[in-house]
Amino acid sequence: LGTAVREGAASVTQLDIYPLPEAERDEDVEPWPTYPKIYRLSAAHEEARDLGTAPAADADARLFAASTLRFTGDEAGHVRGLHLVEVDERRRPRPGTGRTLPADLVLLALGFSGPDRHDGLIDQLGLAVEPRGTIARGPDFETNVPGVYAAGDAARGQSLIVWAIAEGRAVAAAVDRRLTGAERLPTPIGPYDRPMTA
Ligand SMILES: Cc1cc2nc3c(=O)[nH]c(=O)nc-3n(C[C@H](O)[C@H](O)[C@H](O)COP(=O)(O)OP(=O)(O)OC[C@H]3O[C@@H](n4cnc5c(N)ncnc54)[C@H](O)[C@@H]3O)c2cc1C
Repeated sequence: LGTAVREGAASVTQLDIYPLPEAERDEDVEPWPTYPKIYRLSAAHEEARDLGTAPAADADARLFAASTLRFTGDEAGHVRGLHLVEVDERRRPRPGTGRTLPADLVLLALGFSGPDRHDGLIDQLGLAVEPRGTIARGPDFETNVPGVYAAGDAARGQSLIVWAIAEGRAVAAAVDRRLTGAERLPTPIGPYDRPMTA
């Protein structure tokens, strides 16, 4: 968003499939120190707003609960419009909310939620996956297939290098335990540990 604004885009709209988050942490649902899903305004959003690049109706250039259904283009193969619909919290389209945004550039910045393909290793090994598409595993990092362990982003979802390293070490310890029965290697984290942030 920030780059598009600085490159002189006449108008930028950022689509988010999630609903508009609450302004404040819900202490019942996400008590401290859980990382809360709250409305956040980044410097790029402020910049878009201040430069008038955000469409007036969407003060910070974002449309929430917006699901893209299809693109339309011209005969030369350039995208010209994006057809979207408003969705409820279960991502079901709200009837009568479909509309088309004119667009001449669409950037997909969807983020990583799990392995993008299941038709290779995951299907061939018969690994169970979580609803988000990440590889499912038990408390010892072992998948539903005995002897097959999963660590890192493929199982945790989008994360950081430090988590991948810690999971790799924990899996090494689990495999060693399975093979030798000995408790020799460190297990820095468990598969369900999450960061503690304010
Ligand atoms: C753009 C971007 C920026 C990031 N910036 C940061 C950052 O600044 N700091 C930070 O901490 N983290 C950052 N991350 C996250 C970090 O890169 C990941 O969390 C980390 O690399 C996960 O490690 P991993 O070993 O689980 O997976 P990966 O590093 O993705 O390794 C998986 C490997 O498996 C290979 N592979 C896949 N399928 C098969 C197969 N069938 N057979 C054999 N090999 C296969 C892949 O080619 C890949 O090499 C960033 C990620 C992205 C995408």
